[in-house]
Amino acid sequence: MHELPLTEDILRIATQHAAGKPIIAIYLVIGDLTSFVDDAIQFYFDLIAPRTLAEGATLHFRRVAVRFRCRSCETEFAPVNHDWHCPACGALGGEVIAGKEFLVESIEVATEE
Ligand SMILES: [Zn+2]
Repeated sequence: MHELPLTEDILRIATQHAAGKPIIAIYLVIGDLTSFVDDAIQFYFDLIAPRTLAEGATLHFRRVAVRFRCRSCETEFAPVNHDWHCPACGALGGEVIAGKEFLVESIEVATEE
């Protein structure tokens, strides 16, 4: 359910940057550690985009895989099958260095002709 306010943010950011031009596409970056679901964002977007500059715009999702930096040995690793142990020293988890991203990377607007 929390995708609705998120999708409203996406729409607000995109329309602010569109400077009055129709939006063709919105490029999103979403880390795998967030619980945001692409389909839910698309669902809400389809609900709230009509009658805005973003009506009919295509959403593009780029997922970012989770990466940790081990606090014990500083090895950077990507967890495999939800096993969050450092492959070098066996310590559990570590500092998250990727996977929590959520941002509007860019938008594409119609060019004036
Ligand atoms: Zn380690």
